[in-house]
Amino acid sequence: MRRPLIAGNWKMHFTVPEGLEYALRLRREVERYASAVDVVILPPAVMLWEIANALRGCPIEIGAQNAAWEDQGPFTGEISPKMLAGWCHYVLIGHSERRQLFNETDEELNRKLQAALRHRLKVILAVGETLDEYEAGRTAEVITRQLDAAVYGVELESPIDLSIAYEPVWAIGTGRAATPDYANETMGLIRRLLEKSFKRLASEMRILYGGSVTPANARSLMEQSEIDGALVGGASLKAPDFTQIIQATVEVVQSQRV
Ligand code: PEP
Repeated sequence: MRRPLIAGNWKMHFTVPEGLEYALRLRREVERYASAVDVVILPPAVMLWEIANALRGCPIEIGAQNAAWEDQGPFTGEISPKMLAGWCHYVLIGHSERRQLFNETDEELNRKLQAALRHRLKVILAVGETLDEYEAGRTAEVITRQLDAAVYGVELESPIDLSIAYEPVWAIGTGRAATPDYANETMGLIRRLLEKSFKRLASEMRILYGGSVTPANARSLMEQSEIDGALVGGASLKAPDFTQIIQATVEVVQSQRV
């Protein structure tokens, strides 16, 4: 198993004081697992700086939920990767809510990815099929299109710089996670696509599963050979749930070492 990455996507939740308090609570509860697993939280942009300062010196890393493709300019409401550079570790690009609700295209996501890497942010790129696409048996076609388009022209210095989150849209926030076998199979396809673009680096790149991950299903997902962690939405908003998901991941890592 590659070193796992567990990322908590807070989406548009918490006020600034609530987010800060929650981050400090996670710091206390999660720090002890950091030798075995990378933990990242993705708070809303308005509280990122505050939380980054509060977590300084702690192994929990922070990430933005989105970033623009330009460094600066007339882009009202946007946050540039240049503004995040140097203190924010990760950025999530291509979440299905950005694709669907904010009409982000594959081409724009490619530009965002390139811009983030230029500023040395580690990227979690989300891909995934909708329910209609899943039911029509089009998962492989959709994933191939999304991934190939997003990484077009991208060169990586390190496999850590880019992780892929496979998030079937029908599993996000629905309580209906993909089965471990199905997720593993699709993530195997993602690994083969990464090999096409990044050759030898691909075997070390992390592929996360996202979509209704809970303490109850975390272990069976993490046991899969292609699953290197999770992008967690709803369950990342509750400290006991998020902690249990991390703990389950650590237990899988430990069981594979013996
Ligand atoms: C997500 O939003 O990325 C996500 C996976 O949400 P949830 O865990 O709530 O399904």
